[in-house]
This record gives sequence, C-alpha cells and structure tokens, in this order.
Amino acid sequence: MNCILCNRKINNSFTTLENILFHKCDNCMLIFKDPKNFLSPESEKKRYKEHNNQPDNKGYVNFLSKALEPTLPFLKEAMSGLDFGCGPNPVLASMIKKKGFECDHYDPFFYPELPDERKEFIFATECFEHFFNPANELQLISSLLCPSGTITIMTNQWDESTDFNSWYYLKDNTHIAFYHSATFDFICKKFGFSKEYDDGESVVVLSKNVVHEPYIEESSDITCINKKQAIKV
Ligand SMILES: [Zn+2]
Repeated sequence: MNCILCNRKINNSFTTLENILFHKCDNCMLIFKDPKNFLSPESEKKRYKEHNNQPDNKGYVNFLSKALEPTLPFLKEAMSGLDFGCGPNPVLASMIKKKGFECDHYDPFFYPELPDERKEFIFATECFEHFFNPANELQLISSLLCPSGTITIMTNQWDESTDFNSWYYLKDNTHIAFYHSATFDFICKKFGFSKEYDDGESVVVLSKNVVHEPYIEESSDITCINKKQAIKV
C-alpha cells in the first residue's frame, strides 16, 4: 500500500473499534481509510444529495464564514474565484458574490464543467476529506490557480490528541482522507505553495508560489485525470 498523497510506502496501519482499516503515512502525515472502504460514485453522489446545505441554513453559512473571513485580506476588488467541490448547492459561491467578487463553481458530480481560465482564488471547503487521490486533485487545483493566487481549504485536521475510535469526523463514510497541520507543509513543498494561515483545526489558506521548483521524490507518480489539466501552470 502506498500513500494516496505522497506515494511513499505505508509502514503504519491500524484498525479502529468499528473495524475500519486506516493507513498512516509517516512522510506526509496523511491518514486515510483503506481503499476497500471507498464508496462507488453512485453511492457517493446519493450521499451528497442528502446534505441540507442551503443558503437559508444559517448554521451552514456561519460554518462557511470560518473559511471566508481569513481569506478576505488576500482578495482584491474584481478578483475572480472558484468554489471547488461545491456539492449540489454552491452556497459559498453566492456568499463570495455578495462580498463583491466573481465566483464560479465546480463539482465533479453536480457541476462537472471546469472553468476555461485560471482563477485568482479557490475555495475547497469540506471536500479534501473526500479525495480518493489528493495528489491528482491538488495538481488539478494548482493548474486552475494563477500564480500568487490563494487556495482556502476547510477540512477537519487530526492531531496527536485525536482518538480514531471516537472521532465523529470519521463516521461519514464519504470521508476518507484526514490531514495533519504538517500535511499542509508537505503539500506546500510538493505543489509550490506557501502557508499563509492555519487555524490548527480546520482552515488553511495557501498561496501559490510564483516560481515553483519541482519537488521530486523517487516514487513520485502524478498523472493527469482531466484533459483540462493541460491549462498551462
Ligand atoms: Zn504520504
């Protein structure tokens, strides 16, 4: 078994009380469920449709504000962004538009058309934990982002005090990948970002470096998943 983010061989696996097999990567600190727990695309889509994430759901709007507020200092008038992995209801995109910015939206299940031009900011809220292949998704996100642009990621982070036998975040069977604060340091190094903000719990803001020295690992194997990734980085 190799890590789904850094491709390094996994030496550390464990099973929780609910008999779910997890793998922990000592290189990038990602913890992920064994691929036998990954849902089929049909079951996954069905599950997402059940989410009640409407613009009139005040709790959800407050929840998304946790990602929006720390990003606002990086945004300037007339900038154009993308709500990546927005699900069936692009609520965040409408919140961003209300703040006076342009915002497109993309979701592989519900709005599969990718934008034709690179964006100055991207939000990926509550989607990194769903990635079967975070390396490919990060490659795609980077290809969609202008140099100096920001990517805001909201996903609950694990730390050394997290009990994998009881953590509620694991219960959702569409959640398969769990990131440590150090995982984002690895992502910055590998994909050419700088960490601008990290609340240590669930929100990080990364900016894309203007010049990215490729970070090559001996077992690196990132392949394109979408022809639109050909957008020049
Ligand atoms: Zn790894």
